[in-house]
Amino acid sequence: MRIAVIGAGIAGISCASELQQVGYEVVLFDKARSVGGRMTSKRTVHGYMDFGAQYFTARNPLFQQQVNRWQQQGVVSRWLAPIYQYQQHNLSASPDEQQRFIGVPAMHSPLKWQAKRLQSYVSCRIVALQPAANLWHLVSEQGESYGPFAHVVIAIPPAQAASLLSPANKVPLPETLLQPCWAVTLVLARASGHPAGGIFIKDTDSNLSWVSRHNSKPGRAQAESWLLHFSPAFSALHLEQDTAFWRETAEQALAELLTQPIQVVDALAHRWLYAQINDKAASGGIEGAIGQGLWLAGDWTRGGRVENAWLSGYDIAIKIREDRSVQHE
Ligand code: FAD
Ligand code: NAD
Repeated sequence: MRIAVIGAGIAGISCASELQQVGYEVVLFDKARSVGGRMTSKRTVHGYMDFGAQYFTARNPLFQQQVNRWQQQGVVSRWLAPIYQYQQHNLSASPDEQQRFIGVPAMHSPLKWQAKRLQSYVSCRIVALQPAANLWHLVSEQGESYGPFAHVVIAIPPAQAASLLSPANKVPLPETLLQPCWAVTLVLARASGHPAGGIFIKDTDSNLSWVSRHNSKPGRAQAESWLLHFSPAFSALHLEQDTAFWRETAEQALAELLTQPIQVVDALAHRWLYAQINDKAASGGIEGAIGQGLWLAGDWTRGGRVENAWLSGYDIAIKIREDRSVQHE
């Protein structure tokens, strides 16, 4: 039985890997040039930089086992840099016992390692699902048709998933659950000497939500460079601004945060339209099964975060296995 997985982020890859391991023929599709989704690090002239997911934690035993396997393969390691917080306009060390992990040399490294074993099509945006005799064909933006597939796992953000569902299999999806985030990196001419690796921004009136130093992570750009994530509200307000705006805004914000003048030699900005879930919005418990062999996976179905994205894909793989045994008994 052939199964298609649309979306090669961590949810899609975990689903595809699990299904392939138990003997299904799986084909993975992604619109981007490479796998990784929101865990993709950018390769720049300065080295790798993480614009999306910054690190992940592992609280579920199944995910912990997966993280152990990645560590054994050398594609994931602990991130041990000092954690700080910015509260009431004051930057202070905020140490804790939490284990935090990163992909090495890039955030997407564990996903690339897993995808090597999977049949995948990249630069292949799926724009339509066509039913034919209880099976599915996928149509790409280039007009190519792939199939037939007994099951299709749609592991992409809800607004994009909604566009693939026809009136016949429409389910209500929380299309605005994932909020935007502008991510800006500043490369400094001179090292600031600040030890912070990651900074949680606690002031709710701040335009920022998170700041980190790339060279606190193994494998990343070694010149001192800082990544600033702007808050969902500020990112949404300035959604269409250009790099010049973001460079200036980030420069001011970083100088204020580090309480010292900074000299920027390079700036890179990336806009995520669908970044992290709105914690305040009710997601309404997304059921992964749409019916007729269609399934939904992704971080947004389980409350956001890398770990939940992985678990969502794994869960759907188990549900497909159970669904198949029901059909064939
Ligand atoms: P995605 O990674 O979004 O994967 C979906 C894939 O589908 C993409 O590769 C996309 O190209 C592809 N796609 C979409 N539409 C189509 C189509 N029509 N056809 C083919 N392919 C398609 N989580 C943490 O745990 N820790 C963090 O520190 C953290 N920080 C974050 C910071 C930012 C700025 C962002 C953006 C996210 C952050 N997250 C963090 C969240 C984390 O990155 C996500 O929860 C996780 O990576 C989502 O994985 P996914 O597989 O569900 O979706
Ligand atoms: P985590 O346990 O490191 O962080 C969870 C939250 O706890 C942080 O957002 C922060 O507010 C707080 N925190 C943790 N350690 C802290 C410290 N030393 N000092 C001050 N505050 C601290 O990691 P996680 O739960 O795996 O979350 C990973 C990332 O994903 C975080 O950046 C978190 O903000 C983000 N997240 C986003 C969503 C969403 O989609 N909106 C939901 C959950 C988590």
